[in-house]
Amino acid sequence: MSDNILKIDGLQVAYGGIKAVKGIDLEVNRGELVTLIGANGAGKTTTLKAITGTLPPCKVAGTISYQGQPLASNKSFKLVQQKLAMVPEGRGVFTRMTIHENLLMGAYTRNDKAGIEADIDGWYAVFPRLKERSAQLAGTLSGGEQQMLAMARALMCHPTLLLLDEPSMGLAPIMVEKIFEVIRDVSQRGITVLLVEQNARLALQAAHRAYVMESGLITMSGDARAMLDDPRVQAAYLGE
Ligand code: ATP
Repeated sequence: MSDNILKIDGLQVAYGGIKAVKGIDLEVNRGELVTLIGANGAGKTTTLKAITGTLPPCKVAGTISYQGQPLASNKSFKLVQQKLAMVPEGRGVFTRMTIHENLLMGAYTRNDKAGIEADIDGWYAVFPRLKERSAQLAGTLSGGEQQMLAMARALMCHPTLLLLDEPSMGLAPIMVEKIFEVIRDVSQRGITVLLVEQNARLALQAAHRAYVMESGLITMSGDARAMLDDPRVQAAYLGE
């Protein structure tokens, strides 16, 4: 099997006259934690939406392949069947369902009841706050708790590739630390991760490799640790 889980070649996306992505190449290899960093409006979310086929009507060019096959589907249930899971910006939990029901929804492509319950117990062990509130409606959770739930739900399908869009956005520092702890743990379990983040420091500390996106273009790429030491990255993204 190819070592390439995700390969993007020459991706361009234009919303009417706005060229949000101007021809980017990006790849994520099996087992890697890759981060895509960049300022507001650089085109990061648009890139993720192109992967999941959830773009609004717009002009798209280029190719995206997943495990060696072109990703043509824009049906999210098909993505889950292909073990490609996404936690969107703003979490997207089912607010009128309980926490437990949300986790069960994440496993709807599976039928191993005992395995599903074991996984839920495993996530409750990682996130005790979810366990304490398992019968509560997800809409009553704090932003950080919803982020935890959204991640646990996405992981219930045992994804090959997990896409995370700004998981730290709007969270208190203690929650941000917890979320990054879990991202590292998920990566250590062998799940391939593409992480879009504005918190460049934490993202670069956690990732193996990184891409910097500016105004729709990839302007830098390479080893994440080396980028932490790069004066251009420090000046533009690390406030140094
Ligand atoms: P953010 O962190 O704010 O989400 P981003 O790097 O993810 O930033 P995108 O959301 O991909 O950036 O936006 C890239 C560009 O495309 C921006 O100029 C944005 O205004 C524009 N854009 C995004 N979505 C749409 C849309 N649905 N219609 C028109 N323009 C859009």
